[in-house]
Amino acid sequence: MALIVKKFGGSSVATPEKIKQVAKRVLRDKQAGDQVVVVVSAMGDTTDDLLALVEQITTAMPLREMDMLLATGEQVTIALLAAAFAELGQAAQSFTGAQAGICTNKNHTKARILSVDPTRVRDALSEGKIAVVAGFQGITAEGEITTLGRGGSDTTAVALAGAMKADVCEIFTDVKGIYSADPRIVPEARMMKEVTYSEMLEMARLGAGVMQPRAVELGERGDVVIHVRSTFCEECGTMIRRDYTMQEKEFIIRGVAHDANVAKVAVLGVPDQPGIAYKIFSRMADANIDVDMIVQSVRSSEQNIIDLVFTVSKPELSRTVALVGQLKDEMGFLGVQVDENVAKISVVGAGMLGNPGIAATMFGALAEAGINIGVISTSEISISCLIPADRVKEAANVIHKRFFAEEK
Ligand code: ASP
Ligand code: MG
Repeated sequence: MALIVKKFGGSSVATPEKIKQVAKRVLRDKQAGDQVVVVVSAMGDTTDDLLALVEQITTAMPLREMDMLLATGEQVTIALLAAAFAELGQAAQSFTGAQAGICTNKNHTKARILSVDPTRVRDALSEGKIAVVAGFQGITAEGEITTLGRGGSDTTAVALAGAMKADVCEIFTDVKGIYSADPRIVPEARMMKEVTYSEMLEMARLGAGVMQPRAVELGERGDVVIHVRSTFCEECGTMIRRDYTMQEKEFIIRGVAHDANVAKVAVLGVPDQPGIAYKIFSRMADANIDVDMIVQSVRSSEQNIIDLVFTVSKPELSRTVALVGQLKDEMGFLGVQVDENVAKISVVGAGMLGNPGIAATMFGALAEAGINIGVISTSEISISCLIPADRVKEAANVIHKRFFAEEK
């Protein structure tokens, strides 16, 4: 007997037929005595369709109303899936995020879960029902509906699994598991049986789209074993957990991630004084814009001015430029330059600590392919390079080949 949280993403519940299949699959896998919570996303492209409706009305949707709208997508799915279970003779009950006790802060469209009170979900389980919970949404202390950012249903599932001390949180998706690179771009990518939270977090942060980074973070904090697996086949998938439990072939690098959703911003000719970075980046922080790679370089040591280059995600670019522009007179810099035709390519692996030469290997692969590196940044377990957007596929392949060649 186990307590299992299962999350099905939008593509798994895209049509009524698929919703019925999900219900069947859940019942087929369920052992007698298992307690099952199913978290679902909005059907198919529903969230995108809702966003498209907004565009026809306004370019300045109030964020509160945005959440009011986007939260409806998941609510459709929970009702239909609960009905599909009933149709199969299985008692089930649907819950909105609020009803499932998902409490968040007030940061509309990117809210963070502050606490989970799964009392009503537990009650339903103890009545022998399957609980069907709307992903991606929560409620503030004031009773306002919030959403958790794109892909947020993963986060709902992991948060619930943590709060309920579930044995496992299964994330069903349209890929077989976590790969060493995006298999649509790097055909040689290999599926990993296991990956650690920190590696997965870094890969998700650097663009591997399989899981929302926040979900992995919550998994680590709550010690939730996350099993990423396919809705459409039975293969076993990838376990995300604290440490490795099996002996897989050891690769120092676990994955190559890429992210085309980045834009480069250069603030040129900034007077080199204490507090300049603070001024720019605190403005960005106040506006809740995530700044990623940051490089400061000397432009002219005689004039004592520098250039500050950083990246943001593409959708944040116009807000960023407006915010930085407001500082021009106050700070006296020369100008702002943007480049949207960039992509970030990264290698990730906990094993790179204490393994010199990883950076050189990565740069060597790019050099050999004649791909120019714009900005470089590193963390303890990753190295990232900003490169021209149109070279990103090639870059992913040549780097992957360098690090994973021995296996072939
Ligand atoms: N429906 C939301 C989205 O498309 C949440 C999710 O799918 O996890 O981003
Ligand atoms: Mg979705």
